[in-house]
Amino acid sequence: MSIKAPKGTKDILPSEIINWQNIEKTANDVFSKANFKEIRTPVFEDTDLFERGVGDTTDIVNKEMYTFIKSDRSLTLRPENTAGVVRAYLEHNFHRESPPVKLWYKGPMFRYERPQAGRQRQFHQIGVEMFGIQDASADAECIFLATEFLKRLGLSDLVVEINSLGCSECRKEYKEQLKRVIAPFLGELCEDCQNRYEKNPLRILDCKNENCNRLFEEHDLKNKVSGIKLCPECSQHYSDLKKYLDVLNIKYVENTFLVRGLDYYTKTVFEIKSNNLGSQNAVCGGGRYDGLVETLGGAHTPAVGWAMGVERLNSLIPQLSNDKIDYFVVSDNKIEAVKLTAKLREKGFSAEFDYNSRKFAKQLEKAAKTSKCAIILGEDELKNNYLTVKNLETSNQEKKTFEEL
Ligand code: ATP
Ligand code: MG
Repeated sequence: MSIKAPKGTKDILPSEIINWQNIEKTANDVFSKANFKEIRTPVFEDTDLFERGVGDTTDIVNKEMYTFIKSDRSLTLRPENTAGVVRAYLEHNFHRESPPVKLWYKGPMFRYERPQAGRQRQFHQIGVEMFGIQDASADAECIFLATEFLKRLGLSDLVVEINSLGCSECRKEYKEQLKRVIAPFLGELCEDCQNRYEKNPLRILDCKNENCNRLFEEHDLKNKVSGIKLCPECSQHYSDLKKYLDVLNIKYVENTFLVRGLDYYTKTVFEIKSNNLGSQNAVCGGGRYDGLVETLGGAHTPAVGWAMGVERLNSLIPQLSNDKIDYFVVSDNKIEAVKLTAKLREKGFSAEFDYNSRKFAKQLEKAAKTSKCAIILGEDELKNNYLTVKNLETSNQEKKTFEEL
């Protein structure tokens, strides 16, 4: 029986890797221009970190974590990276630095979900986190980094949706209102929504269950609730955000029903969606999480960030083709071929030779597939100390010395 990659995971093949390298390089370029520094945290953490940091009313913590026990310790493969970054932020005393602390990350995340288009069990995220700034310019900065990153990758037609969830005071009345409207048909909603009803009614708006969504429409839910009434402070913060986005020329759509899957968001939430992704249409999600650092044992620290799904992002970008290497050394003298290849690499060229010293025609055939130029090193070339360089795109052939190359 042959072994296959586990369900919900994918190999990223050499023919696809150039897109990934391009995405990661672009991320580094865009984020470092704004002085965000990369951080790499472990792919597994104490389970407790996610239970506290992601929240125990979330699907992630309730159903999707890959948890295992080693030496009586419960560990979990990270389902997201914000909790890990906050843990590192506290562990390494970043909070003693003068704010802001600006970080970005990339890497695999793990969620036990039903695999489908745009949804895997091991998938990748690139994300940014910014600590220490309450002002809405930080929220705008993060949204700018996301749109700039997408723009640099050639994607400028995505939709930025924003909303403000306010603070816990702002949400109190809205939660009650939601519960009142939902109460008459609560019994028909999915089990998750029934649990959310008491613990976190806002999350009901984020339900992906088709039956629930049909019921919301039938009962005209979205017209019966008013949206969150923001307190003066939260309201000011939200209008500041919109002002900054306007200044930055970032187009956005306000969606008063946008809530996010995780428990820790306050004030700003946003998502970036594409019409070309089918039902899993969110490429990027984020927002402000002023309570999280405190929840994980630090002092009250305002923070804002986002995470982008790299597989979904990649599916919007055309597949780039792998670069050909500079030179393929064609020779029946393997020692000389090895020597010349090494010399070429030393000079900064990419080069290879035929490990099997096959017939010249075979070597040239291989060269044409992988290389821009072939260097022919035959008997005459070796005797008279020159190289025959064949441009494999134009078939042009020239005699050159190594120095001339
Ligand atoms: P969704 O609503 O699509 O489940 P989410 O709210 O769970 O997304 P986040 O936890 O905010 O998503 O993650 C940010 C981004 O990571 C998403 O917008 C998406 O692009 C990507 N993502 C999340 N889960 C998966 C997955 N299982 N497979 C592939 N990409 C994912
Ligand atoms: Mg999800």
